[in-house]
Amino acid sequence: ASERPSRGGARLAPTASGPLVGRVIVVDPGHNGVAVPSILHRPVPPGGGATKACNTTGTEALDGTPEHALTWAVGVRLTGLLRAEGATVVLTRPDDAGVGPCVDERAAIANRAGADLVLSVHGDGADVAGARGFHVIVSDAMAGGPALERASRTAASALVAELGARTPLPRSTYLGGGTGIDARADIAGLNLLTGCPGVMLEMGNLRNAADWAYLGTDAGRAQVAAALAAAAGRVLG
Ligand code: ZN
Repeated sequence: ASERPSRGGARLAPTASGPLVGRVIVVDPGHNGVAVPSILHRPVPPGGGATKACNTTGTEALDGTPEHALTWAVGVRLTGLLRAEGATVVLTRPDDAGVGPCVDERAAIANRAGADLVLSVHGDGADVAGARGFHVIVSDAMAGGPALERASRTAASALVAELGARTPLPRSTYLGGGTGIDARADIAGLNLLTGCPGVMLEMGNLRNAADWAYLGTDAGRAQVAAALAAAAGRVLG
């Protein structure tokens, strides 16, 4: 593994014309292909007070599949869908083999790219009996201020609606009070955005058998990617 994290930012041109022509969308597959503790533990600014870690290893599904592999698989599908609708896509990490950027750098990639929207893709790991379902994280402490926080909530609502329509996943039973949306102030990749809204999807609870029975399949991953693309279309199309 390399000694330093990638700066990421692979910029991919549209593959066809469509409703997203002229739009730049950052797709952020959570975590990294390779875990290097000396990099992961490096302190970075979270956009609030105290520092936080550069990144974490992420969780692991019931069958041992690492979260980074799932987020990469969905991120690649999503990238293809968005490019086919005319969008330019900026991927925060170029592959699932190395050490991706720190969480603060993932926001900086979007700021530098002049992005219109950030879609960060994760899977949760809650070892609580019966805890399942997706939730969309938004920041209530964005560098870009209240206007971006409102726009991010609009994007989150669109994503909740599309996931509800296109997948069998329920809204989270353990976070968000049944809304499917959870506001936080400690997510650097969202806090540090200055020019566009962003959301972070926790696709489901990878420690839950029902969620993983779905998210472990190609068909499930394709449906989640389609819901993300459709939400982008609602917000930007
Ligand atoms: Zn994660």
